[in-house]
Amino acid sequence: MKQSQLFTKTQKNAPKDEVSTNAQLLIRGGFVDKLMAGAYTILPLGWRVLKKIEQVIREEMNAIGGQEIFMPSLQPKENWETTGRWSTMDDLYKVKDASDREYALGPTHEEIISPLMKKFVNSYKDLPFAAYQFQNKFRMELRAKSGILRGKEFLMKDLYSFHISQEDLDKYYEKAKQAYKNIFDRTGIGEKTFLTFASGGSFSKYSHEFQTETDAGEDIIFVCSECSTAYNKEISDEISHCPECKNHTFHEKKAVEVGNIFKLGTKYSAPFDLTVMNEKGEKTPVIMGCYGIGLQRLMGTLVELCSDENGILWPESVAPFRVHLISLGKNEEAEKIYKDLEKKNIEVLFDDREDTSAGAKFADADLIGIPWRVVVSQKSLAGGGVEVKKRNEKESEIIKIEELLKILKK
Ligand code: ATP
Ligand code: MG
Repeated sequence: MKQSQLFTKTQKNAPKDEVSTNAQLLIRGGFVDKLMAGAYTILPLGWRVLKKIEQVIREEMNAIGGQEIFMPSLQPKENWETTGRWSTMDDLYKVKDASDREYALGPTHEEIISPLMKKFVNSYKDLPFAAYQFQNKFRMELRAKSGILRGKEFLMKDLYSFHISQEDLDKYYEKAKQAYKNIFDRTGIGEKTFLTFASGGSFSKYSHEFQTETDAGEDIIFVCSECSTAYNKEISDEISHCPECKNHTFHEKKAVEVGNIFKLGTKYSAPFDLTVMNEKGEKTPVIMGCYGIGLQRLMGTLVELCSDENGILWPESVAPFRVHLISLGKNEEAEKIYKDLEKKNIEVLFDDREDTSAGAKFADADLIGIPWRVVVSQKSLAGGGVEVKKRNEKESEIIKIEELLKILKK
């Protein structure tokens, strides 16, 4: 894509009321725009990043047998009354239509998927299975001050699994745990993300969160000094040693919850009478699990982790483009390289702007944070090629154009 045609522009300063690093850099770079506290428009650069994150998650969910669906955000009040959450869920947005019919704007989808599955699942032979979606969630978040880490409206991947027995859920839960680990590794936050024991519910003692260490986080976790498993401060009364390896020493860290997996048991299947016939022909309740990841939260966490004083450093796996090609002065060579890269399906943002200084172009490149910066100028061409620098490196080097294509093809 040509940068001259990108409708967004970088900005020197972020809005004054925006205190979080993630929102400041994402707004300045033209990835998102703030509509109001807790609601952000995702702009073209940001959308490319979110779509990449989404695709990584999709691949991992498909790998554990998830089938993708798409459920409505607008949900009938009755479903929420069936589980009791119409009156108990503090952060539920409620809306009324002209005839005074009431609806919830979905903060989560157990109330929709459980009755949905009642229409399709009759026998133990229909189990197990899992379905997931990427869908906007609405939550009345009162302390929306963490930029895109906490939205009132945000994209979540939510997967729900359905089982004949607790043992089968337990088995699937372990697979989901691994899939989550893969997602955080692949998107570049794996090293700082800890599997964290958190409070369970009536059906399991613990749930698990995936907590990423960052000062921008709102949670406190204790990470085991031996095995790096963590527990959330909220359950510290219940815990005297590491639930994984029995060790007693921990490091306290600030963290943000990027994902959560939860054994629901029959909490939602029971109120909706979601049952199947077991092998003996007896009616038995379906056992459920749920598994969430916030997409903007993952993207914002990445920015918190991967940035310096000049801007963002996107990991290659989710960068909006792989190459930032910068042309200094008008030169046909740059245009030719741009076409070549596009032809080879190497994603490239081409800074072809003619009215912008070299300094401003470099500052923009650092702010936007694309992994490879390739400068084409009379000077580089005289030196035999293009000037290449990775975003995380200080020094650039001149390499031949063919050489560059070879490196990028890897
Ligand atoms: P938190 O404690 O941060 O409010 P939660 O326990 O309410 O999170 P879940 O209901 O488990 O979160 O939602 C699943 C995932 O959705 C979370 O792990 C997180 O990644 C994401 N998420 C939750 N709330 C928000 C939000 N307001 N904005 C963006 N992402 C969110
Ligand atoms: Mg919450």
